[in-house]
Formats: sequence, C-alpha cells, structure tokens
Amino acid sequence: MPDEKPMHIDGAWVPASGNRTYEVVSPVDGSVLAAVAKATRDDAANAVAAAERAFRDPAWRRMDPSERGRLLQRAALIARERADEIARLESTNQGKPLREAKADVLFAIATLEYYAGLADKIEGGVIPVSGPRFAYTLREPLGPTVHIIPWNYPFQLGVRSVAPALAAGNTVVAKPASQTPLTFLVLAEIFEKAGFPKGVFNVVTGSGSEAGAALAADGRVRGVVLTGSVETGQKLLAETARNLVPTTLELGGKSPNIVFPDADLDKAVKGAAFGIFLNAGQMCWAGSRLLLHESIHDAFVEKLAAFAKTWKLGNPLEKDTRMGPLVSKEHRERVESYVAVAEKEGAKLVLGGKRPEDPALAAGAFYGPTIFTDVAPASTLAREEVFGPVLAVMKFKDETDALRLANGVDFGLYAGVWTKDLARAHRVAADLESGQVAVNEYPVTFPQVPFGGLKRSGLGSEQGLSALEFYTRRKSVMMNLG
Ligand code: NAP
Repeated sequence: MPDEKPMHIDGAWVPASGNRTYEVVSPVDGSVLAAVAKATRDDAANAVAAAERAFRDPAWRRMDPSERGRLLQRAALIARERADEIARLESTNQGKPLREAKADVLFAIATLEYYAGLADKIEGGVIPVSGPRFAYTLREPLGPTVHIIPWNYPFQLGVRSVAPALAAGNTVVAKPASQTPLTFLVLAEIFEKAGFPKGVFNVVTGSGSEAGAALAADGRVRGVVLTGSVETGQKLLAETARNLVPTTLELGGKSPNIVFPDADLDKAVKGAAFGIFLNAGQMCWAGSRLLLHESIHDAFVEKLAAFAKTWKLGNPLEKDTRMGPLVSKEHRERVESYVAVAEKEGAKLVLGGKRPEDPALAAGAFYGPTIFTDVAPASTLAREEVFGPVLAVMKFKDETDALRLANGVDFGLYAGVWTKDLARAHRVAADLESGQVAVNEYPVTFPQVPFGGLKRSGLGSEQGLSALEFYTRRKSVMMNLG
C-alpha cells in the first residue's frame, strides 16, 4: 500500500471528501510514491474559507510585521535542516538530478530569508496636499491569495510565490501540480512547525481543472498567481476577470541564447548546454533557441554536441547522473512528437532524437539531449515551447539579424547574450523583447531580482520588491486638521 498523504487545511491534515486519492508516480522507474488526497471543489472552497477566517483573525491580521518576518525566518531555518531530505524527495518525485534539486531548495530558503527581512519594511508614504490636511497611504495585504504551482520546480517556484504573500500579511491557499505535490506538503509541515497560525497557509492537492479552477474562481479570493502554461494562464485569467482579481501569470518561453563571435566560446558552449539540458530542458527559461553567428556555427555545434554526449542519463539520486528522466512518460511522448515534427519540417538532427537504449533506463521516462541545426525561423520547433531537452540552432549574420530572430516569437521570458563587447551587451539587452536578460551566463536568477515575462510569457512578475507591490494595495487616508 502506498503512503497516504492528506492535505493541509485550516491547520489540520485532512483527507479529500469521500477519501478520494490519486497515485503519484516516480518518473525514474514508474513506482508509486504515494496516494495523495484528490481535492473536490468543496475541499477547495473549505480551504479558501479557512484562509479567509485566518485573514480576519487578529492573531494574523494584527501580528507585528517583524513577527511575520520571524516566522518566515524560522521556516527558513527548519527548511535548511531538512534541505537534503527535501531535495531527495524532489528528485524522486520530479526526476531532476539531486544536485539540481538541492540548488532549488537552497534558492527557496534564500527566498524565505529575503522576504523574512522585508516583512517590516513595507511602507506607505506621506503626500503633500493643500490646506490644513494630512494625507498618507497605507499598504495593506490583499486577503486570501491562491497560488497554482507547476511541476518543473515544485518547491522553488512554490516558495517563490508564497513567501512574499505571507511576508505582506496575506493568507495562502496553494495547489501544487498533481504530478509533484510531495515537497509542498513538506513545506506545510515546515510552516506549521515554524508557528504560523492555523489557516494562514493551506495546501490543496488534486487536479488543476477541478480543484485549481475552483480556487481561482472563488469570489472570496483577492489575488491569484499561476506559474504554468499559456493555455492554463488564459483559462485562469478568464475566471479571475469575472471577479476582478489581481492576477500574476508566469508562463512559458522560447528563449534565445545568442552567441556573438567575440564571446568566450568555451564558456558559451557550457551555457548553451546548461540552458537546455538542465532539468532535462523542462524550464520555462530554457535557452531553447541557440542563435549562433555564422562564422562560429559549425565549430560551436561540434563542441556542444561533444559536451552533451558526456551528460550521463540515469537515476537522479546517483552522484554522476547529469540528466534524469522527464517528469512522466506522457510528457516524453509530447516531446517526441515535437522531434518528429522538426524532422518532417526539414531541421537537421545532430544529436539524440531518441530514447536511450540502456535497459537499466527502460522503466523510466528518459530522453537524451537532442540538437537540431538548420531550423527555419517559421518552423514549429523555432516557435513553440517543447519543454524538453531539444535545442533548435539557428544562424545569424549580424546584430540586427540576431535581434530579428530573437524577438520573432510570441514569447518574451528570458534571453542570453554572449559577447566580450560591453557596448554590444548593453545595446542588445535593451533591444531584446524579454523580461530577463543574462549576459555571459545562462541560466541565472536571484530571489531579489524580479522575474516575469513579456508577450505570451506572462503578466506581472515575481521575486524582488516588485512581488511585494503585487501582494499589497495602497489605501489613501486624508485627514482634515482644520
Ligand atoms: P500547467 O499544465 O499549466 O499546470 C500548472 C498548474 O496549473 C498545475 O498545478 C495544474 O494542475 C494547474 N492547472 C491546470 N489547469 C488549471 C485550471 N484550469 N485552473 C487552475 N489551475 C490549473 O503547466 P505545467 O505543465 O505544470 O508547467 C509547465 C509550464 O509552466 C510551461 O509552459 C513552463 O514554461 C511554465 N513555467 C513558467 C515559469 C515562469 O516563471 N514563467 C516557471 C515554470 C514553468 P495539474 O497539475 O493538476 O494539471
């Protein structure tokens, strides 16, 4: 019998109504990891009710902001003590190599610490007005907020979303992706142990189209954040528009990684590989389009393919594994369908394009590093997010051509620029239609730096001080002193 995992609602560990559960399966070998509560719409409504009560309760509402910061700091300390355990669980559930999972957990802890320090620094202002009057602004939390989380960085992106919400005094109902709920349930244990009042942090597990949709559509919710696909973002925004609820959407990407001929090419080869093969390419910010100057194209591709061949596929818990399985066999089929279309549309397969032959990997959702060159800018592989280890390489003639290609898609999440020419780096960074630009490193981000997408990559941003802007509203107070 698999381990039963209840949800965390109103400070209690509860099963779903009717004891409904679903199986969470490891992508490494197909084994069942747990039977997790499958929330109904009523369960989702109960979680929002708990978050609403907790928001109105003076225990949270009147809590000294510095005490909110201390709770987050305590959660960070507990998470640090449990970091190895959380990373192992994330690897087993999601499939990413242990070292990547550990880096994700450390990023999440840094996020908790960053917002812990900001909880008592959310300030209003005084505004000069005419007459004997005093006008000022208060910054207040929104209320109960809903956080819908994807499966590619379950712990890191979940914490990225909920930490600023709690720092600002909101209450939270989080729904992890159905494939990867396990580390988020550990987060609920951590917040409970840290001493957050009951109902302040709730986790609802189950399906997005059922529990997730019910949470987003609930009229009592005052803020919604989704990290997920464009399609889900569009559906969710239609729901939150009905209730006029502020919504942040962190969606997909088709990010360009642009290498100019004057770059440190050895570094750029590594950056190109990390950009598409880390987390088996299941990254919103994947550098899935590698734009190479025509003068370096052939030699660069050769070096990149040689480097990618050294990436050992295997059990993510083993030390020398460089790439784990994709998140599920269904997802692997989706990736394979993109590879088939790319071949049909005339791209040239340079590496991979198939499942590994090693019988030891047969039970898992493994797929090797894959590189295509000669990818036409109008083709499917150049325009759509694959969300797997599949790289589209294209050539450019000059800076203008590189920018035309880079900006020529519907997404605008992240972009890489490789050059030693500082003036060019600034020029290109300014002209890229992208929420983030990384120069001479890929990928990189920090909790204190805002992260958000342009075009179909999203609305608004997370991380940094700007997340606190989203999770608070300004109230203006005008006093007549005459
Ligand atoms: P997804 O299918 O959109 O799922 C994301 C979350 O939304 C899951 O928790 C899902 O639940 C839930 N959901 C699905 N339908 C819903 C609905 N109608 N109402 C409310 N919630 C719903 O995306 P994914 O496949 O997990 O993640 C991959 C996508 O996320 C990629 O496009 C990637 O680029 C993007 N992403 C963006 C960022 C960023 O910061 N911009 C970061 C990471 C990932 P279920 O799991 O139960 O379906």
